[in-house]
Amino acid sequence: GKITSLPGSMADVPKDLLDQINRLEELFTVPADKLKQISDHFVKELEKGLSVEGGSIPMNPTWCMAFPDGNETGTFLALDMGGTNLRVCEITLTEEKGEFDIIQSKYRMPEELKTGTAEELWAYIADCLQQFIEYHHQEEELDQLPLGFTFSYPATQDYIDHGVLQRWTKGFDIDGVEGKDVVPDFEAALAERGVPIKLTALVNDTTGTLIASAYTDTEMKIGCIFGTGCNAAYMEDCGSIPKLAHMKLDPAMPMAINCEWGAFDNEHQVLPRTPYDIVVDKESPRPGQQAFEKMIAGLYLGEIFRLVLVDLHQNPDCNIFEGQDISKLKKPYSLDAGFLSAIEEDPFENLVETEDLFRNTLSIQATKPELELCRRLAELIGTRAARLSACGVAAICKKKNWSTAHVGADGSVFNKYPHFKVRGAQALKEILDWPAGKGKGKNDPIEILPAEDGSGVGAALIAALTLKRVQQGNY
Ligand code: BGC
Ligand code: MG
Repeated sequence: GKITSLPGSMADVPKDLLDQINRLEELFTVPADKLKQISDHFVKELEKGLSVEGGSIPMNPTWCMAFPDGNETGTFLALDMGGTNLRVCEITLTEEKGEFDIIQSKYRMPEELKTGTAEELWAYIADCLQQFIEYHHQEEELDQLPLGFTFSYPATQDYIDHGVLQRWTKGFDIDGVEGKDVVPDFEAALAERGVPIKLTALVNDTTGTLIASAYTDTEMKIGCIFGTGCNAAYMEDCGSIPKLAHMKLDPAMPMAINCEWGAFDNEHQVLPRTPYDIVVDKESPRPGQQAFEKMIAGLYLGEIFRLVLVDLHQNPDCNIFEGQDISKLKKPYSLDAGFLSAIEEDPFENLVETEDLFRNTLSIQATKPELELCRRLAELIGTRAARLSACGVAAICKKKNWSTAHVGADGSVFNKYPHFKVRGAQALKEILDWPAGKGKGKNDPIEILPAEDGSGVGAALIAALTLKRVQQGNY
């Protein structure tokens, strides 16, 4: 609603900024009835994705066809090709139920790699794996180590050890990979270097999260990532996947589905997109794709914030940052989700930390009322992201008729963005009409919990489950 009487610190905000705050409130607030409408539409889109005709959410079968029982054993490598880091792990699933040992190394993922060539990408990854093996297994004669490769992009899989990249997401833009099976080129780079590794399973980070979390908590039903990108996986039964009917799989057999829900509403039917969301999309390497992800994921939160501020500065009716040099603010993607987190975390009523942040990062000396607007804007963008995320979680639960569930979540936004969890829980309550007292997170009927390490332990478990399935002749 409109702000008419002002709380203490807002009392001195001039009218032009107040008008803008009111406008932004209206643009970015998603009320309960809208959340319900979005999640109802979401249920239909999940179903469409499983149908023969398909929809805009890919709903990729992953060929991960069992939950772990906790008794898996063996040593596995896991490779996590995230957006920011490359991580190599060696995981030993020990004899004690649900226990594991892990050693790991992180390598920086050079920014240029994201828009370079496929050869450079696979060479870099193979070099990191080689370094890891040389460091940890110096003189040993090694059998081929089984690898779970967490490749967190949408891929079509006919088998678990292959995957055709549907499209790059999260700002990646490497020519000649989309539409191709990524495994042969990856394996060729390993073979060239004589690295003794056998890719056993290509895994999405959400599937890894689901399986890793289920390793220690049998109530786990959904794995989610709220990080640089945003997505979820859950266990479907093969009988509810019409697009696999031709394979005559046992209808009761489980199959993890990587929803790729970032693509939800690519056709713009329900999401309350603002003019800023439209610019984010247009200026991205893949316009028209990942509509939902672009309103939620960490990669985009800072950019939405930046675009609003630049727009307000250029708006003749609003005097924000007047007379200041905003050239740094004008640089696309100069602000990340960490910038917004820091603003939301500023404990001081006079926002001194936010003031420092603007001065140090952007060379802008902001006035108190300007800082008030920025704080409110960060809250609005962060709250919208958490509330929209809840629509996806609610939709999977509705589709599966789960009135209770544990959801394992990972990613920088989930783990580090202030109030994200509480805002998401509140939104779930509004969507699912929980009674008073619920919607605070802890002990809610549907509870979103911090996940186990999906891209490491999860990928290793999936490799273990795959080998077990091969040994049983169920391949
Ligand atoms: C990718 C998903 C991934 C998610 C989280 C999205 O951009 O398409 O495959 O699970 O990011 O990393
Ligand atoms: Mg990751």
